[in-house]
Amino acid sequence: MTVINSEQILIETGSVPQVHQLIGGVWGPSDNGQWLPVENPARRTTIAYIPESGESDVNRAVDAAAEAFKSWGVLPPRERGRLLMAIGDKIAEHQEEIARLVASETGNALRTQARGEVASSADVFRFYGEAAFQQKGETFPFGENLLSYTVREPLGVVGGIVPWNAPVILSTMKIAMALITGNTLVLKTAELAPLGVLKLAELANDILPAGVLNVLTGTGQDVGGPMCRHPKIAKLTFTGSTGVGKEILAAAADRVVPVTLELGGKSPAIVFPDSDDLSAVQGVIAAMRFTRQGQSCTAGSRLYLHRDIFDSFLEKLTAELAKLKIGDPLDEASDMGAIVSGKQYDTVIRYINGALDQGGRLVTGGIERPVDGDGYFVAPTVISGAGEDWAVTREEVFGPVLVVIPWDNEDEVIEAANNSHYGLAGYVFSKDISTAIRTANRLEVGWVQINRGGGQLPGMSYGGNKQSGLGREYSIEGALESFTNVKNITIAI
Ligand code: NAD
Repeated sequence: MTVINSEQILIETGSVPQVHQLIGGVWGPSDNGQWLPVENPARRTTIAYIPESGESDVNRAVDAAAEAFKSWGVLPPRERGRLLMAIGDKIAEHQEEIARLVASETGNALRTQARGEVASSADVFRFYGEAAFQQKGETFPFGENLLSYTVREPLGVVGGIVPWNAPVILSTMKIAMALITGNTLVLKTAELAPLGVLKLAELANDILPAGVLNVLTGTGQDVGGPMCRHPKIAKLTFTGSTGVGKEILAAAADRVVPVTLELGGKSPAIVFPDSDDLSAVQGVIAAMRFTRQGQSCTAGSRLYLHRDIFDSFLEKLTAELAKLKIGDPLDEASDMGAIVSGKQYDTVIRYINGALDQGGRLVTGGIERPVDGDGYFVAPTVISGAGEDWAVTREEVFGPVLVVIPWDNEDEVIEAANNSHYGLAGYVFSKDISTAIRTANRLEVGWVQINRGGGQLPGMSYGGNKQSGLGREYSIEGALESFTNVKNITIAI
């Protein structure tokens, strides 16, 4: 059965489809019969309506997940693994369709972002499917009269909440890790970008037993809030802003349930004087996630350039950014798409104007540069001369806005880079490996990349320090720690 009619959504025939959510293996509207629009931010058209769910939908989904847990939790891990790998294969088969949905709802360009995101999703399902057998315990040497060993048990029903910026891969990480370890999941999609995730759920629902994966749509307040307070949810896993993350943490504390938080960032990129070249420029552009309009938690949005190369590096950076084609995300020619919503667009513009009003210099970009289309487009923007305490330097803009700051002294640049309440990622560009590793060691972040600006790879550890997060889920060890309880069994022989 086709639940998400992608053609109707993508062709925009004028009749806007109502898309359903998934509870207990069954697709349906919300109990209250209310709907929320989903907008294509590049065209500023409504492309679908999703159920505007509430507490009773959450209750139904949690009950379905709790019922499914009874058999899913005791299935041999490799059998769960086989099903996950089958989901990965299905996603790969439908890569183009899902990618087009994601490009339409997020504004992320199909060629540079959305296709790769869906390919990564298939990869992550296969990776964790293969890793199923790692759910092992230990034995303890207490002598021949005692057998003492541990088992790793699933937690029960997990509540997952995701943002809109990379909706499919961020949902995939929660689904794959929660399910492979024997939990069942109630996943709340982001209201701005639910369609790619619902399509993924449609494919997964043909493979999984009913109730193992439930996907709800609606607002944070009406769906996320009741999920966080629900007595049958055994663990919360949240990816989103630091502000909301604090609320999730408080709700988890109230019920004493484990919680993982993947939150915001304001990551530094430090360029040493030996790296005034195109490869470092391209690394900085990748790190800043310019082709995702900077809408990434790990965006290297504070660029520290050594003073000796400040002007020449900026000249090369400006020339490379000028080559990026901004336009409709579904157009193969577009390198960069649109900002996700009018609200987010206004926020980005406010940060740019605020910095310029304070005396910052626009090196390139801003709202002056003409871009294609009527959507929420912002050119890749670089601002110099911003003070360390300015909002544009300290706060997460979540847009294509890079602040560039000169430095002279290694100790001082590291101190400036670490002067942030965030601690998610960091980037170092140097040809001298000792310098690069020394700098990496001193950065107070969860993930440092040296001479590279790419994305996460399945299996690596990933997560934030300080107010960028709590816990690590992405590695196999992280998934086991995050989604299982260790039980010790001690037997007298
Ligand atoms: P957001 O915090 O506004 O929303 C995230 C999700 O939480 C959405 O599904 C939203 O509906 C829900 N939500 C909102 N209020 C809630 C509440 N009171 N209770 C429960 N749920 C609630 O974030 P966003 O704007 O969607 O996403 C952007 C943010 O996500 C950025 O700060 C970005 O850095 C962060 N992010 C972090 C990572 C990471 O891995 N660390 C990855 C991607 C995005």
